Amino acid sequence: MVQERYDAVAASLKVHVGDIAKLDVDAIVNAANSSLMGGGGVDGAIHRAAGPELAIECRRLHGCKTGEAKITKGYRLAARHVIRTVGPVWQGGNAGEEELLASCYRRSLVLAIENEVRTIAFPAISTGRYGYPSDKAAATAINVAMDFVSSTKTLVEITFCCFDEASAEEYRRQLANQTAVRPS
Ligand code: ADP
Repeated sequence: MVQERYDAVAASLKVHVGDIAKLDVDAIVNAANSSLMGGGGVDGAIHRAAGPELAIECRRLHGCKTGEAKITKGYRLAARHVIRTVGPVWQGGNAGEEELLASCYRRSLVLAIENEVRTIAFPAISTGRYGYPSDKAAATAINVAMDFVSSTKTLVEITFCCFDEASAEEYRRQLANQTAVRPS
């Protein structure tokens, strides 16, 4: 990747601390469970803010497998779309968790492009109830996002929406490391 392109990729990745349900972007990503029918964490916050229509549309989707993603409208959210993806439950790292988590990010981004999404926000998928270590999850999220942004011209911004400052600091540290290792 040439230097200018690399800088552009780095500039399109943002870190935000707060509630993902409040973000005014084209699409927010929900860390859902495989039934797609309700939960706490990110899922609870998104459903509360979107209103009951979102659950009605989710029911028609008939679930979602781990590592896959599905899209709905955003209803009362500022975001036009909700992309729900099901992260892997952390089982120690030898059960294909990394590939499944990467797949969540990739499949969500592919759906975003197909739906003309130009700005998207991700929560730290799998790092809540599903127990995925935050540093490892951030590394996978950043790697997939950088690969993706460098290979598409239409997506302009990916926000990593963290719920606490410690998690945001981890993303900032890893993003700074990535941009420090500049291609020759
Ligand atoms: P999972 O089941 O995939 O682990 P969770 O919803 O339990 O998903 O949590 C994923 C991450 O999202 C956790 O780091 C949690 O702190 C964070 N989180 C919880 N609520 C919100 C919210 N409203 N906005 C952004 N991040 C959130």
